[in-house]
Amino acid sequence: MPRLRLAALILLAMVSACARPPAPPPVAVAPPPVILDPDSACLQELAGLHVSFEPVAAFGEPGQGCGITNPVKVAAGTVAWNRPGVVTCAMARTMARFELEVVQPAAFARFGQPVKRIHHMGTYDCRVRRTSTKVAAQYGGSRGGRLSEHAKGQAIDIGAFELADGTMVSVKKDWRAGGARSGFLHDVARGSCSTFNVALTPNHDRLHQDHLHLDIGPHTLCGY
Ligand SMILES: [Zn+2]
Repeated sequence: MPRLRLAALILLAMVSACARPPAPPPVAVAPPPVILDPDSACLQELAGLHVSFEPVAAFGEPGQGCGITNPVKVAAGTVAWNRPGVVTCAMARTMARFELEVVQPAAFARFGQPVKRIHHMGTYDCRVRRTSTKVAAQYGGSRGGRLSEHAKGQAIDIGAFELADGTMVSVKKDWRAGGARSGFLHDVARGSCSTFNVALTPNHDRLHQDHLHLDIGPHTLCGY
């Protein structure tokens, strides 16, 4: 290579090196975003409350709108249940709150002992609401049948509470019977209105004579 040409190349390289802008200051690399999974937070809370449960796979019945995206199978809340129930994690958490803040204080106040088992009549169920015309009218008339909150795992029907000594307090038998059992059920019903979004009792309609329907659906109704 001719010497002149080599010198020109070296000069060019030096000029371009001088013209290069200074290296930018190092940019702090942001840590990957922490994704807070509301379900995992809920599951942790359930575990912290000593609810006996296991997460189950999300399920649904396409076309019917039934199903649960974050189901848990609860074997027992903070109080034993007569049989397992499948609900959303949020519903399981609300039940635990209800047991601790409403059921047990009422039981101690009325009977001086705790409830040892909640007898429920159903949790998840893919069906439309069983509702009277009167109630349907309040929701804008759901003659065709709006899906029950049971179909979304957000509801439970409770038929009775069993005390530590084995006494059964039944919605069907005791709601209107007067005395401590009736008083307890009414205490629980009143308390459930501030724990759940919807609480339906025998006072509400003829379809709820034997159980308390409690749900965390989008509506608000204290049927006490
Ligand atoms: Zn129900």
